[in-house]
Amino acid sequence: MSLDMLTIPAQCVAESRIAELDYNNIEFGKIFADHMLVADYKDSAWQIPQILPYGNMSLSPATSAIHYGQSIFEGMKAYKDANGDILLFRPLDNFRRLNKSAERMCMPAITEDIFMQGLEQLLRLDAAWVPPTPGCALYIRPFMFATDEFIGVRPSSNYRFAVFTCPVGAYYGQALKVAIEPHYVRSAEGGAGFAKAAGNYGAALLPAKAMQERGYHQLIWTDAREHKYIEESGTMNLMFVLDGKLITPPVSTTILAGITRDSVLQLAQGLGYTVEERKVSVDELVEAYKAGMLQEAFGTGTAATIAQIATIHYDGLDMDLPAVEGREISNRISTELDKIKTGEAPDLYNWVHRISL
Ligand SMILES: *Cc1c(COP(=O)(O)O)cnc(C)c1O
Repeated sequence: MSLDMLTIPAQCVAESRIAELDYNNIEFGKIFADHMLVADYKDSAWQIPQILPYGNMSLSPATSAIHYGQSIFEGMKAYKDANGDILLFRPLDNFRRLNKSAERMCMPAITEDIFMQGLEQLLRLDAAWVPPTPGCALYIRPFMFATDEFIGVRPSSNYRFAVFTCPVGAYYGQALKVAIEPHYVRSAEGGAGFAKAAGNYGAALLPAKAMQERGYHQLIWTDAREHKYIEESGTMNLMFVLDGKLITPPVSTTILAGITRDSVLQLAQGLGYTVEERKVSVDELVEAYKAGMLQEAFGTGTAATIAQIATIHYDGLDMDLPAVEGREISNRISTELDKIKTGEAPDLYNWVHRISL
């Protein structure tokens, strides 16, 4: 099905709820824009999508996604530039990754038309919800789940793809205290850690809560086999600056291929830094720390772009890193990336998808 030149049928709200939004005090993930996109998959094909008022969906108690977790999602952001155009950051990469997750979870691929044109029309309709305020953005949540009303364990025949959005405030997070996880595992080789599949996140809640009770914001996952190599942290990939080089674990079946990760690596290379994608062992980090060579550590992801790490705990040792202000590489890349996303810097890598209103 091609939606070229086709307008997605929209049922618009009688009155916008935008007046409820206080741009200066946006609570994450609690206020949703007026509309959502919904497309259903049945009889082996995606049906014509629809734009509807944001609202509840009615589901059978036997909806298979609820029981067996055929459910995937994406996370991305839209910004407003100085002209009021809406800028999406690398949306085709989110589209491709959603389909990688779909393939792993035995779900049908969504079409580029439905994803991109659906997004474009939804954002045009809810353009007023993209905050013009610096640092703020409209968070976009595409997702897909199995809708068969059937409780046998088998791939569903019916699915729903939907997209809703919510304005988010500036991320003024403090630098994080994280601890290396010696026991629990997020993902093993051959598993589904590379997919944004719902169950991965549910299974991570208990270990994360246990670490929080010990005084850390987040944990760092290690490999399932030996707990020896660094994987990632929460919903962020991890990067370190060791002796002036930017180092990050390679993506694999266990590590999610972050779009922020890829952008940071490309920018760093473009700026002339040495970049290494290779395994990073816990021992290497501890040794570098003891030698005074662990200069920077940070997480990368859509939520924070770059989240600085202040302290890494491992086996009784709190490794306190140099002050955030002095971190050359991550601060420089963070500023550069934010400027590209909001249209303040030239888009040399062709990452920005512009929607002119
Ligand atoms: C989403 C996610 C990331 C970051 O991906 P981005 O595309 O940069 O937002 C990293 N790790 C996990 C486990 C994730 O779910």
